[in-house]
Amino acid sequence: MKNYPWHKKLMEKLLRSRETLPHALILKGRDGTGKLDFANRLAQSLLCESPHESGEACDACQACSWFANGLHPDFRKIEPEIDTSDSGKKSSRITIDLIRSLSAFTNMTTHRNGYRIILIHPADAMNLPAANALLKTLEEPPGKTLFILVTSRPNQLLPTMVSRCHALAMPFPKPAEGEAWLRENGITNPASFLAEAGHAPLAALQLASEDSSLKNRFLDEIGSSSLDPISVAETFHKTELSLILRWLQKWCHDLSSFAFSGKIRYFPDFSDRIRTVSTRMDRIGLARFQRKLCEAQRMSTHPVNARLFIEEMMLTYRALMDSQ
Ligand SMILES: [Zn+2]
Repeated sequence: MKNYPWHKKLMEKLLRSRETLPHALILKGRDGTGKLDFANRLAQSLLCESPHESGEACDACQACSWFANGLHPDFRKIEPEIDTSDSGKKSSRITIDLIRSLSAFTNMTTHRNGYRIILIHPADAMNLPAANALLKTLEEPPGKTLFILVTSRPNQLLPTMVSRCHALAMPFPKPAEGEAWLRENGITNPASFLAEAGHAPLAALQLASEDSSLKNRFLDEIGSSSLDPISVAETFHKTELSLILRWLQKWCHDLSSFAFSGKIRYFPDFSDRIRTVSTRMDRIGLARFQRKLCEAQRMSTHPVNARLFIEEMMLTYRALMDSQ
């Protein structure tokens, strides 16, 4: 796994001070920008036994091979775990048991005489007891141990915990840099994907790999003055509902953003249609509809009659266009 260009400087800076790193780092930044990859790469580089001159991992030594296979004895990754007691559902929380399980690890001497590294991702998934347990460890940090907490919601962390860590705002690529990176990764029209992903390059890459012809067809429909709710429901009821809701949420964001500021964030390729539809929209009704979409997005995994649901959404949406 390589370093992303927008992370290079920060990586070099941290690796230059590898002997004097704080005992806990918080890597905070937006989703889809590669924070977790950075954290993994940093950990691997600190554990590598023959790093390059830059300090980066060699990808060839025994430690690097262990790390790549998830077997390095001085590295632990803490993530929300499968909750087997509750029908195998994935729990979205990091519980106190997971944090307690670290004490045996931090009390041992390290196997390779170097760093002992604990990566917690996403750190905001720790519930309160877990966060308090970690806080105790951070108050009396074990020697030569580095905690790396990764989060896109730093305001969800306990302030007492944040005060015991060194927080780093993760760098974010400039649009041209993000576009260049996407082009290197085989994306021929990076600007539109980058815009749709809110300028988060990894999220843009993910979007580019999704079926964009289906999305464009949907946007064509909802941007049309002759929108037919029944036919839209017929065409899209087998598409994942959360995907449709996401397209519709972004579309409505663009409609209202265009109405208020003339700006289009997610779908610049559809700017003509957005402009036309936006002028026909009831703004207050649109705001209300956007709130409904948020609520629906939260429950979109629940079983619903998708066809009926999409039809109703489209009827509400069409009524907003006609009310001007
Ligand atoms: Zn190595």
